[in-house]
Amino acid sequence: MNVLVINSGSSSIKFQIIETDTQELLCKGLVELTDDLSTFTYTQGENKIKKELKINNTDEGIEIILKQITDPETGCLKDLSEIKAVGHRVVHGGEYFKETMLVNEESKKAVADLFDLAPLHNRANYAGIVACEKEMPGVPMAIAADTAFLSTMPESSYLYALPYEYYTKHSVRRYGAHGTSHRFVSAEAIKLLGKPAEDTKIITCHVGNGASVSAIVGGKTFDTSMGFTPLAGLMMGTRTGDIDPSVIPYLMEKEGVSAEELVLDIFNKKSGLLGVTGISNDMRDIDAAYEKGDEKAKLALEMYTQRIKGYIGNYYARMNGADAIVFTAGVGENDALMRSLVCKDMEALGIKIDEEKNNTRGTVDITAADSKVKVYVIPTNEELVIAMDTAALVAGK
Ligand code: AMP
Repeated sequence: MNVLVINSGSSSIKFQIIETDTQELLCKGLVELTDDLSTFTYTQGENKIKKELKINNTDEGIEIILKQITDPETGCLKDLSEIKAVGHRVVHGGEYFKETMLVNEESKKAVADLFDLAPLHNRANYAGIVACEKEMPGVPMAIAADTAFLSTMPESSYLYALPYEYYTKHSVRRYGAHGTSHRFVSAEAIKLLGKPAEDTKIITCHVGNGASVSAIVGGKTFDTSMGFTPLAGLMMGTRTGDIDPSVIPYLMEKEGVSAEELVLDIFNKKSGLLGVTGISNDMRDIDAAYEKGDEKAKLALEMYTQRIKGYIGNYYARMNGADAIVFTAGVGENDALMRSLVCKDMEALGIKIDEEKNNTRGTVDITAADSKVKVYVIPTNEELVIAMDTAALVAGK
């Protein structure tokens, strides 16, 4: 079944068409929305098309994507009717989305009810659903929420130590993010371990521009490092990660900034690797500066990797051990230095990597021969999860 996967964000729309019987990727692309000319990239096998266009909103972005997909010369489909279902990524699923669900009035309302908790993300996701419904009436659609796989966390993991009524009255709790990625790579790790899923304990490190660590027990999420929003947990490309909230009123007074500016702008966009080094949010630039002996890059890498190590230790202790640690996403899949610094000096926990394997691109199992815990590098594939879930839901409808 051909499934169109749509990830409609506030500044971009990503898409893929996956034939779910063979799991073949038919095409993929990206619309980067800007006030000026937007960039549209389309890839089909070896062929790549890049255009600059005026795209005013999500509706127009979806229209352009569908036109390209069915272009008689360069598209991958003859007709839109070849798309049998659409799977939408939604960032915040709140307590409603515990698994992938079909799009209907109730599930759409649930996405809209969560605008308050993820204003930029869920609004853009919602706009993508509505635009696709307009262009492809009658085609079944599904919603894969990025929080769904994390919804199995026990209350002791997701509650903040606040007055309890803030949870019951205002839904303030840990929700996490990157759930679809944690789900995909933990399932792959379970296959590699060759044990029944219920007997496994896995720590998954999704380290990209955004980053989070999850503890997965018996194939289900036990805890995750992101919180009420994706600002919490690890230090990231531009985000602070965990920080003492007392810093907020203090800096508001000292810097004369509002709470909104501090949290939405400075903590989210000007901190992390970028904030500490003043160089970049891109780990490739930080690595290059580190190799040249830049002190700030060295400090930032130490902070960054110590925090990942800290979450691994936290989850290792609370799960009473781990069978495997998994690295994934842009930094996790590509950055041997980061993996090496994280896994250094963890022999006491039975964690040791083989540096030669770690430095060889494409090696999945980087465990040292005398390590008790397996260490894997597994490329994530969130779109495949969304496509397979959507196809299964539609087939069972
Ligand atoms: P993601 O959010 O998963 O798309 O990851 C994006 C991040 O991956 C970028 O900010 C880069 O810092 C990082 N990245 C991509 N390629 C590499 C690489 N070869 N080495 C180190 N970091 C990389």
